[in-house]
Amino acid sequence: MPLEYITTRVAEVGDGLNVRRALPSRQRRTVGAWCFLDHLGPVDYEAGGGLNVGPHPHIGLQTFTWMIEGEVVHRDSLGNEQTIKPGQVNLMTAGRGISHAEDSPPGRGGHAHAVQLWIALDEAHRHGPPAFRNYPVLPLIARDACRITLLAGSLFGETSPVEVFSPMLGMDVEMQAAGEIAIPLDPAFEHAVLMLEGTAALDGEVVTPDALAYLEPGQDRIALRSEAPARFVLIGGKPFGEEILLWWNFVARSQDEMAEAVRDWNEGTRFGEVHGSPSHPLVAPDVSRLRLREARS
Ligand code: MN
Repeated sequence: MPLEYITTRVAEVGDGLNVRRALPSRQRRTVGAWCFLDHLGPVDYEAGGGLNVGPHPHIGLQTFTWMIEGEVVHRDSLGNEQTIKPGQVNLMTAGRGISHAEDSPPGRGGHAHAVQLWIALDEAHRHGPPAFRNYPVLPLIARDACRITLLAGSLFGETSPVEVFSPMLGMDVEMQAAGEIAIPLDPAFEHAVLMLEGTAALDGEVVTPDALAYLEPGQDRIALRSEAPARFVLIGGKPFGEEILLWWNFVARSQDEMAEAVRDWNEGTRFGEVHGSPSHPLVAPDVSRLRLREARS
């Protein structure tokens, strides 16, 4: 089955930190319920640099942070303050509304390598209460000279404890030496692979960190071969059956819902307050520009 390549683009988060953004893209908005994928670093930063994303709201999604190297401090409107460390996942369920900030530890330089994903919540869960949880330990699977961290879903008899609401899969795979890894897939799922480091041949086709490689449903396995150490994430899920609108930090179904969320953020209602972040709160862009863009497309 042919691969579809989705070229990543450079985007800026916080104060001047560049990420490679793979989702959403013009070609594809979702892979299963996964609707956003940013790859940050690996990058060294000086004191005062790093991630400085001030308080901002979310609705209708889960933010899923996979920390590979370095640390980030999460603070949210439920009162949680949680430093995420390498090998851990922070999962924030926005439901009907939450706000949070993400900052590198203050006062020192450091190193950061992370992936941030968003998961669209389905109609049954998107109006639910907000929640936050840190997962300090995830299943580790050693196989074919690879070290697999199971981020979401099930694989090789293991199941990730991360609580998601749609049938889906997520894993980080470190290929520690030249070799090949075969991964069983659910044929009902669509999947995508993003190389984080190095290159590999996916079913014979070369994949690099510059593009997300997308696979349609219908495959029961994939094989990746590398000539040197490499690292990738694989995401998948049952194609998301609901038409979503993703704009700024919101996932919704209509422009009226977006306008309402912007108004509530600007007026300081619904999203609570985040305390202790050294970064300035983010200002919502003009929602009327969304109407223009949607009207033209
Ligand atoms: Mn956020």
